[in-house]
This record gives sequence, structure tokens and C-alpha cells, in this order.
Amino acid sequence: MTAAPSRTAPFPAHLVREDLRDFTGYSSARTSAPGVPASIWLNANESGEPSTADPDGECRRYPEPQPPALVEAFADLWATTPDRVVVGRGSDEVIELLVRTLCRPGGDGIVVAPPTFGMYAVSARLHGVPVHEVPQTDDDLTWRVDTDGLARTARLTGSRVVFVASPGNPTGTVVPLRELAALAEELAEEAVVVVDEAYGEYAEQRSAIALLEERPNVVVLRTLSKAHGLAGARIGIGLAHPDLAAVLRRVQAPYPVPAPVAAMGLSALGPEALAATRRRVQQTLRLRDTAGRRLRDVPGVRAVYASDANFLLVRSDDPDALLHTLASAGIVVRDLRHQPGLHDALRITVGTADEMTALDTALRENLA
Ligand SMILES: *Cc1c(COP(=O)(O)O)cnc(C)c1O
Repeated sequence: MTAAPSRTAPFPAHLVREDLRDFTGYSSARTSAPGVPASIWLNANESGEPSTADPDGECRRYPEPQPPALVEAFADLWATTPDRVVVGRGSDEVIELLVRTLCRPGGDGIVVAPPTFGMYAVSARLHGVPVHEVPQTDDDLTWRVDTDGLARTARLTGSRVVFVASPGNPTGTVVPLRELAALAEELAEEAVVVVDEAYGEYAEQRSAIALLEERPNVVVLRTLSKAHGLAGARIGIGLAHPDLAAVLRRVQAPYPVPAPVAAMGLSALGPEALAATRRRVQQTLRLRDTAGRRLRDVPGVRAVYASDANFLLVRSDDPDALLHTLASAGIVVRDLRHQPGLHDALRITVGTADEMTALDTALRENLA
């Protein structure tokens, strides 16, 4: 048996693009030389006076690239350390940073398990990086991610990043934590395993954040866009080994977190806001389960998958009719029929109680 890796086990530096290993990035205006504490900042060509649109001057200066209070609040929320936290403009940006940091442009590769979130492949394509697929399988109730297949494919193709969404989108299924741990162990020296937990607040399984200290090659993505109700604020978080987090911050655009966004994010992490979020999640789970039962009774609906997220994935013998029924009631759902293996599938987000009543009414009329 090998000794348990220590908390300070290094990140395998060879996984970072060679040309970025000592890249220092853009030097921000919010740093000053040591010595007398800085009090007059004349180094960034900001306006001396605030805008009339911003009488209190909250936005007069460039923000901190990684607002310390926000970073600390995330570290507290997930019982980790600030040096592991990277705040981005949505997890979308963190996905892009990971691809750009770990894969050479036009080379290396990523591995995904379709059906899955589209942004992994989009980021890879924009960087000229090949996308290797290990399709999930399903039994009309849940989906299975073939983590052994992901490891094998990553190794065979020399890929640098494996993306796994858990709970998955659009599958709604979680990948067991022990399988994620085994995948990361298998690829310890070869690739970074990114566990995207955009829907983690809705799931019962423990977060993969639990793997971070033991597995330097694990990255966990979280977001304020779903359960926290702030999709419009664009706040996504990468939790990574401190060495990798440091490189990601250097690769990131300057000042990625606008000051008003940081303030809003911080207030979403106060105790009352978090308690309200937990109540909303419970309500969503109740509404989801009711809608799931209702949908199973709709003629032609072949499958309503078990969901650990805030949506339901539905297969229908006549998806056209179902879409049409909902559209005539003004209800827009996600049509997934263009995706391989989902030619008969729709994804329905769980909305408010009133919205779910409207969905129910539309479905009843369809039944009649
Ligand atoms: C919605 C979603 C995200 C969230 O992206 P943001 O950029 O943080 O809004 C990330 N991953 C998955 C799988 C999602 O479904």
C-alpha cells in the first residue's frame, strides 16, 4: 500500500501546457510595491471622480481580479481553502480556462461522455482540440457513465482533460463518487478529471470536493447559476489544486469579476440567503417529483428518467405532439432531438409552483 498522499501532494506540473508553466499573465492594477502602504492610486488611468451612473463610486476603479471576500466565502461554503478557489464568469469560463491551460492549441484532447453539457466540446473546438466521446448508456430509468472507458480513452488518445457532469445534463444522473475517485486515480499522472457539479445542490450524493485533497488532478466546478438563482450574474467557480488554480488565474482575462457581481455573489452566500436557497431547492425537488409522476401518465411518454437535478428528461413516442401541446400553452422546453441517442427526448426544467401547474394543465388537456 502506498502512503496516503499528503494535503500538499504536488500537482503534476507536466499536465500544464509547457509554454504556460512560467507564464505570468497580465499584471493587475490592484497590486502595489511593498513599503509604505499605498493610499493614492494613480497607476491605472481610472477616472478620479465617479460616474453619474455610479454616484457612490463602487465601479470607479478596476475590481480585484479575484475579490478576496467572495473567494473566502466560497472557501467557507465548501470547507476548502481560498487558494483552491477560482472565480469565473460562469463555469463556462472555467471550462474554457481548463481547456486552454491544459491542452496545447490544436493538440492534446478532451474526453466527454455524451449526452452531456455542450460547452466542453465548444471550448475544445474553439481551441482546436480534439473531442473524444465515450457515450453513456441508459435503461430508460437512469444513465451510466463508463468511467473505465473514459480512463482508457483518455490514455489511448493522450487527452489532458476528462469532463464529467454529475448530476449530468441532460441526464440528471449522478456518477458514484467512488467511480470518480477511481477515474482520477487511474489518470493521476495523465489527465485532469473535471467534475461539473452545476446541479450539486439538488443531489444527495456527497460532493467530489471531498476528493480534492487526496487527488491533485481533480477539479470541481460549481455555479451560482442554478440552485442559487443567479444565472444572470455569471458566477462560476473552479475548485482545484492550489498550483493549478494559480495557473488558471494567470490565464484568465484581467478583472473577470465585475464589482456589482462580486457584491451580489457575496450576498447570495450570507446565512439567510443560503437558508432560502435550501428551501427553494426542497420546493424544486417536490415539484419535480410531482411533475415526474404526471408525465409518466401522459400517453406516449416512454420514459421519465430519475433526476438528481432541477429538470426532467423525458422520452416520448410522439415528441412532436408533446412539444406542440406545450408550445400552444406558451410553455418552452428544451428540444433534444438533434442529439445522438435522444431523437425522442425533451428536457423540462422545474420552474415555480404556478409554472408547474400550467404544465400540468397543458398535459391534462393533452390527455383528454
Ligand atoms: C448550467 C450548467 C452549467 C452552468 O454554467 P454557468 O456558466 O456557471 O452558468 C455548467 N455545467 C452544466 C453541466 C450545466 O448544466
